Amino acid sequence: MSLRMRLQPEALGSGMTSQRVRDRLVERLRGNGISDERVLNAIRTVPRHLFVDEALATRAYEDTALPIGHGQTISQPWVVAKMTEALMQVEPTRVLEIGTGSGYQAAILAALGLEVHTVERIGELLRTARKRFRQLGMNIRSKHDDGRIGWAENGPFDAILVTAAAPALVDALTEQLAPGGILVAPVGPASSQSLLRLHKDADGRITQQTLGPVVFVPLLSGMID
Ligand code: SAH
Repeated sequence: MSLRMRLQPEALGSGMTSQRVRDRLVERLRGNGISDERVLNAIRTVPRHLFVDEALATRAYEDTALPIGHGQTISQPWVVAKMTEALMQVEPTRVLEIGTGSGYQAAILAALGLEVHTVERIGELLRTARKRFRQLGMNIRSKHDDGRIGWAENGPFDAILVTAAAPALVDALTEQLAPGGILVAPVGPASSQSLLRLHKDADGRITQQTLGPVVFVPLLSGMID
């Protein structure tokens, strides 16, 4: 590899992936209704360009979903911010994410100081995400499994975030929610998904609220390498 090629990532660092570009994304999210400064700060801190293929790094700070291989996507920053903001309302400690994907959402949760558990059904995506967690020095617990069963041994969780859409809420996940906990999940068919926010009160009673329309890849069964 020539010296010039090896210098390219540096050049990127001062251009399309610089702090200034990240700050601009944060201002855009603020303009679109995200107000939790902790969440905005996490987005300012975590280098999203490290969670996509190098060829897409220059687009990493656009407010858009991007392909990560295997027909999957890294969620749009606004969606990540919205879901994270919703779960931060209960001041969680122990959090479960279903659908690690690129690892970006998990990294945002870790940057917020939460104890993060994440489950992914595609082995190759999980291996790549784990490398990124190590590279960033993030201590995130992860498991290669069908996330529809949750992670009971490590539960209950103060917050559960599902980042793939199911036709209906998954009971096993609701059961692993601690009293006072919150679950945020896209629910519905590909053509009309809604982001749901479910709250379990201290007595185990559940209330539900719709946060708005979203588009997610489907929550699938089984696991693949
Ligand atoms: N949170 C991710 C978004 C990834 S897209 C990010 O920040 O990049 C959704 C992910 O959910 C995909 O990687 C997909 O493979 C995964 N997924 C779908 N069904 C799943 C299941 N049953 N269990 C675990 N992961 C699942």
